[in-house]
Amino acid sequence: MAKGNKASRGKIILVAGGAGFVGSHLCTALLGAGNRVICLDSYLTGSPANLIGLQANPYFAMVEQDVCDEIDIDEPVDQIYNLACPASPPSYQADPIHTMMTSVTGTGNLLRLAERHGATFLQASTSEIYGDPEEHPQQENYWGHVNCTGPRACYDEGKRAAEALCFDSLRAGSVDTRVARIFNTYGPHMRPNDGRIVSNFIVQALRNEPLTVYGSGEQTRSFCYVSDLVDGLIRLMNRKENPAVPVNLGNPGEFTVIELAELVLSRIETASTIVHEPLPADDPQRRRPDIARARKLLGWEPKVPLEDGLTHTIAWFQSALAGSRAERRS
Ligand code: NAD
Ligand code: UDP
Repeated sequence: MAKGNKASRGKIILVAGGAGFVGSHLCTALLGAGNRVICLDSYLTGSPANLIGLQANPYFAMVEQDVCDEIDIDEPVDQIYNLACPASPPSYQADPIHTMMTSVTGTGNLLRLAERHGATFLQASTSEIYGDPEEHPQQENYWGHVNCTGPRACYDEGKRAAEALCFDSLRAGSVDTRVARIFNTYGPHMRPNDGRIVSNFIVQALRNEPLTVYGSGEQTRSFCYVSDLVDGLIRLMNRKENPAVPVNLGNPGEFTVIELAELVLSRIETASTIVHEPLPADDPQRRRPDIARARKLLGWEPKVPLEDGLTHTIAWFQSALAGSRAERRS
């Protein structure tokens, strides 16, 4: 570790994708719990700004690299969280082949590193592996309904392949792997131009621009606040006995896109209205996690209601947008 190579400090934890939205909150929580954290990130969709406050911590180190390139970390890493992958549809579709390789080659590289160090490995998988689901709510034993030739396949199929790599490594006895299937998560540190629904609607409302509802807006999603997700990820990683099955992490509260737009409009003083735009190809019609497994195995339950999470997220975007306006003026 470049900085903070001190002996008596918790575990050494590698967070691939640690400069992104979820990863930066995870790094903060792991440092706060007394661990040393190495963040490995190419800054593709992440940002050094997400790590402000962490960079000065002597127990934090940053490695800037792509997970598709060989990963050479000699520190005796105890745990690896693999969050490296663009998560917003416009971002993962911008370079779809690289997205696929990030999940396949990148996960393979990180699994080899985990094997070398005997590290426990957690893969950030996704509800997208269920595709446009024919079963509702989604339980982990549902195999999914994914279009393997569509524009979302680079992400969905890449993540499915990464899950297969993890379970093969577990069966082979080479790595202790855990797989979290994450449902739509939101909160501070999302990029204003990220393209995902919560950040789009909040930023549009704060700028008095129309809220862009794709399609009829009757499609549903379930929104989990980032602190709840981070709590679930840490519980899954640290569960003594490996569950040896994927675990859904998400908030079961289900909202239509129109309901979310109206909720955002009710919480921000704005001149914005709602406009409808075409529905992107293969957009899943409904999504809600069944979290019985997470409840049972991890004692985990999301605590932050959507209204409260939106309040925190709106406040954060207000100051982030004000900060970038001030920066442009100076
Ligand atoms: P994000 O785009 O904010 O973060 C991803 C991070 O990975 C970024 O910092 C990015 O720079 C980095 N990255 C991407 N490709 C890389 C590469 N090839 N090499 C090195 N670094 C790379 O996304 P997020 O919302 O924080 O999601 C984190 C993880 O959780 C992702 O793997 C995503 O698939 C998964 N996930 C997130 C959600 C969600 O709603 N946020 C839902 C399901 C799954
Ligand atoms: N969506 C929308 N307007 C936007 C962004 C997204 O109506 O400005 C819709 C999108 O079509 C999808 C839902 O919101 O039905 C969630 O989209 P997001 O990109 O956040 O996540 P994902 O589709 O990956 O769940």
